Amino acid sequence: MTTRRDFLKKMTASTVVLPLISDINDTVIPLADGKQLRIAFCGLGSYARRCADAIKDCKNVKLVGAISGTPNKLEEWQTKYGVAKENCYSYETMDGIKNNPNIDAVYITTPNALHHPQTLRIAKAGKHIICEKPMAINAKEAEEMIAACKAANVKLLIGYRMHFEPKTLEIIRMRKEGELGKILFFQGLCGFRIGDPTQWRLNKDLAGGGSMMDIGIYAINGARYMIGEDPIWVTAQETKTDTVKFKAGVDETITFQLGFPNGAVASCLSTYAMNGLDKFYLNGEKGFAEMQPSTGYGPIKGRTHKGELTHPHVTHQTVQLDEMAAILFENKQPIVPVDGEEGLKDMKIIDAIFKSVAKNGEKVSIKY
Ligand code: NAD
Repeated sequence: MTTRRDFLKKMTASTVVLPLISDINDTVIPLADGKQLRIAFCGLGSYARRCADAIKDCKNVKLVGAISGTPNKLEEWQTKYGVAKENCYSYETMDGIKNNPNIDAVYITTPNALHHPQTLRIAKAGKHIICEKPMAINAKEAEEMIAACKAANVKLLIGYRMHFEPKTLEIIRMRKEGELGKILFFQGLCGFRIGDPTQWRLNKDLAGGGSMMDIGIYAINGARYMIGEDPIWVTAQETKTDTVKFKAGVDETITFQLGFPNGAVASCLSTYAMNGLDKFYLNGEKGFAEMQPSTGYGPIKGRTHKGELTHPHVTHQTVQLDEMAAILFENKQPIVPVDGEEGLKDMKIIDAIFKSVAKNGEKVSIKY
């Protein structure tokens, strides 16, 4: 019987273009010599736990370390995930990771405003970095992070898990191969109704903003990978219904429009005030693609003018991390980039969105 793995091997042997390393979990091609990326998490909150659970199914990644300000959590990670005590650090001791040969990379999963200072510290310690989105709270910080990683000769990747999601990649393939024709329009609706008013996501100092930094970034990033270009202008409008919960600098709802070099436009919504908004729509001269849900943990659902997309559900974080191991160790080129420069583009667009909001919706041009 020919398995999917055999099929991929044959494809690799007979074609110049390498197939995706892992378009579903069981087709991950192991790294040479069974090498594994030994990873530590910095910030042991809910997303770190989700990733740690997903690593159990990774072929190329091993969870080995943890950085936290809470000793109880470090103990919990030792018991639950088998993290060795000597690979556990506090925020005070984390620079010592430099002398730990058993950790290759650190995955930063702390609140947004901590990504920049922690990236600078980890780069200095000589470890590769995977940083959660948004990579920083503005473009200046993102540029400094890229420069620090270059200076330290370590790689910086951003946790854009959708860049490895099979239905998303199928739409990107269709667009690249002209099956949708010239792309004319994208719509991205991203939001949820946020709860606890005391959480860091509603604190400007820790979040760097509100819904846009957290969930609106999916519409921005999605517009770019769906259209296949980077926007050159933006207009944006903010509405706020609750000024107690959403203080100055913490956006509740922003609608924004992006203009692309080939003439395509995008119309997007980012919100912390409405539930269940998770939808992409892409329109071209020859067809369309739509996804709903489009960026949640899945299963993602998608259909195009040719019919329903039937690619099997994958655990996003498992595939993302297996792919990232290959990017870090084997210099694999992902179909959609996940490097610091990719994250910087989103930060430049967010800066421009905030600028447009401050100027009552004036058109702001974006330069890269
Ligand atoms: P969380 O609140 O569950 O976890 C944050 C962790 O950081 C906690 O363990 C907290 O103790 C720790 N922390 C360290 N210093 C802190 C400080 N000064 N103030 C507050 N907390 C501090 O948040 P989360 O949902 O895990 O989000 C963490 C990061 O991951 C964010 O940047 C977020 O955007 C990102 N994220 C990404 C995805 C995704 O799908 N890619 C999903 C969720 C979150």
